[in-house]
Formats: sequence, C-alpha cells, structure tokens
Amino acid sequence: ALDAAACTTWVREFARLVHEQRDALTQLDAAIGDADHGSNLDRGLTAAVSALDAASPASPAAVLAMVATTLIRTVGGASGPLYGTFFLRAAGALDGGDRAALAAALRAGLDGVASRGKAAPGDKTMLDALSPACDALDEALAQGRPLDEALRAAAEAAARGRDATVPMVARKGRASYLGERSAGHQDPGATSAALLVEAAATALA
Ligand code: ADP
Ligand code: MG
Ligand code: MG
Repeated sequence: ALDAAACTTWVREFARLVHEQRDALTQLDAAIGDADHGSNLDRGLTAAVSALDAASPASPAAVLAMVATTLIRTVGGASGPLYGTFFLRAAGALDGGDRAALAAALRAGLDGVASRGKAAPGDKTMLDALSPACDALDEALAQGRPLDEALRAAAEAAARGRDATVPMVARKGRASYLGERSAGHQDPGATSAALLVEAAATALA
C-alpha cells in the first residue's frame, strides 16, 4: 500500500541515490550550468530525511508535503522550487493509497513542474525524464500489469528520457544561456529525475 512508511522509504531511497551520485550530478551541471545540482539536491534531501525522521508524518500526503517544504527551504536555485512543486502537487493528488493514486500523484507532480517551470518535454529539463515515466506507468497499469512491473517500465522510460536529453538544445534554465552549445551534454535535472523514478521502482513496488 502507498502508506506513509512506503512514501518515506521512497524519499529515503531517492536521497540515497542522489547522495551516491552527487558528484556526477554536479559534474553534469558544471558542463552546462553552475556546478551545484548534486550538492543542492543532496543538501535538500538530507534535510528532508532528517525532517521525516524527526516528525514521522502519519499520512502519505503529509510525508510528501514535508519533503516539498523542506526542499523549497533548503535547495534554492531552479531545482529546489521545481522539486518542491513536484512533491507538493503529488501530495495533493494522493488519495486512496492504491496503484491509481500513485500514477495520479506522479502525473500531478509532473504537471506542477511543467507549469511552474513553463517548460515542456524537449526543453532539456527534468520533464524529459518525468514525462515518459508517467506515460509508461499509465500504459503498463492500463494493460493490467502488476505495480512492480509498471514501476520498472517507468524507471526504464525515465532513463531513456534522460539519455535523450544529450543531443537536445536547452530552452529553459541556466543551460539555455549556452544556446546550441548546450547540445552534447546530459541534463543534470533529467538525471536526478530518473533517480526519483528509479527510487520509486525500488521502494514502492
Ligand atoms: P540552478 O540552475 O539554479 O543552479 P540546479 O542546478 O539545481 O539549479 O538545477 C538545474 C536543473 O533544473 C536543470 O538541469 C533542469 O533539468 C532543471 N530546470 C531548470 N529550469 C527549469 C525549468 N524552467 N523547468 C523545468 N526544469 C528546469
Ligand atoms: Mg545549477
Ligand atoms: Mg545554482
């Protein structure tokens, strides 16, 4: 079930993966940004896990809302408010705690990032990992596949979406200042967003 404990495990796994990949994420941001994406997210997710440990929120929506407010407070830059919006919108869409609720929560998070960032798939942002992941999750669930398989398909779609950012020219965020020179580099936010979906596949199946 998609209860508070499962959501906490998801966030903890996302934090673990980002901590492990912190330097790689920062290297990617060094190429087309300002070399802080890994340290930004690692700081924010470490704070989020500490907040969850201290407060143990009782509902899954309260877990995700606490993550959102902590990220908004501690991450800064573009990705803090965007990941904050993702978790806040996901929290607002979580009800029932079943498979459909999870797909709706991820979709609501994706829509929140798109509207907050005024971005669309193809702009070389975290949306390029999140959007195919949501589509793959919806499709797999519509086919009646079990949740673990559906989340695995979503994680694979997110990874392909991340890889597909390499040739893209950035149209949003700092990387867009580089224009055509942003092509040939993997987007750091799409890379961390693929970790978010990978963490869901590990923790929520
Ligand atoms: P900053 O660029 O402020 O230093 P980060 O380095 O933490 O912030 O995050 C950069 C990532 O944020 C980019 O790789 C991109 O995926 C994402 N991003 C930037 N602007 C937008 C936007 N408008 N919409 C969606 N994602 C964005
Ligand atoms: Mg940066
Ligand atoms: Mg920055």
